[in-house]
Amino acid sequence: MTTTLSSAAPSPFDITGRTALVTGSSRGIGLTFARGLASSGARVAVHGIDAAETEAAAAALADETGAQVHAVTFDVTDAAAVRAGVADVEAALGSIDILVNNAGIQRRHPLVEFPESDLDAILAVNLKAPFLVAQRVAVGMIARGSGKIVNTASVQSQLARPSITPYSASKGGIVMLTRGLCADLAAHGIQVNALAPGYIETDLTRALVKDEAFSAWVTGRTPAARWGQVEDLVGTLLYLVSPAADFVNGQTIFVDGGMTAVV
Ligand code: NAD
Repeated sequence: MTTTLSSAAPSPFDITGRTALVTGSSRGIGLTFARGLASSGARVAVHGIDAAETEAAAAALADETGAQVHAVTFDVTDAAAVRAGVADVEAALGSIDILVNNAGIQRRHPLVEFPESDLDAILAVNLKAPFLVAQRVAVGMIARGSGKIVNTASVQSQLARPSITPYSASKGGIVMLTRGLCADLAAHGIQVNALAPGYIETDLTRALVKDEAFSAWVTGRTPAARWGQVEDLVGTLLYLVSPAADFVNGQTIFVDGGMTAVV
């Protein structure tokens, strides 16, 4: 007897009608994540630190996808602003089912010249803020007994480079933040995972892409022999926020063209 899949069988990747907040989605990787979620039927809050950039990105995304999109601007390092921002998203789009902690910054200096202000800024945006936003969004997720949180890690979660020690420490911290949130939230039906991109062409890396020597190092060091494109990351995100990953928890998935697998 031949068994065929019924066309009515729900896809394990179906996220239609879910509400998602993607921090740092006014451009770059976050905007591509927001586009992937909106194109898959989710309602999406586009977020950033710059109101004009965020509102323009949200309007363009709504036009492009026809999805319900809401623009929200707040500083992810400020607990009171996070509380107000999450409340604003929930009032506009409903309870948050999917949180993508993606906002991040990078600063490069020789170690002995690294300004304390840049160290503090990196740790605040890249490590403290994902904790603050997850802590706030978890209140509603715990009440509903479900939710998906994806933190943006990096190849620097595992591999160091000169001149970016605070960034590497922050992204290494994301691996354990992800496991810690898993420990706290898994019993409430919430899955927390991290997506670790390799070297991806965005505003954050624009200067490096233009730097011929650095670009040659990236393509030589990456088994796939190229820079990653933002679109390379979307499928893994959509998997992690879907029912297909309901038993995947506390993991960091590298999407890096093989960089962390090969010396
Ligand atoms: P980007 O600079 O293009 O975008 C950063 C986003 O974060 C913007 O929307 C910005 O408004 C927001 N943001 C920054 N500080 C904020 C603050 N204090 N409050 C609120 N929002 C703030 O960066 P990107 O390249 O798209 O990087 C996105 C994430 O991916 C970061 O976490 C980064 O560390 C990570 N990452 C990037 C690469 C890469 O190659 N580009 C590789 C690995 C990991």
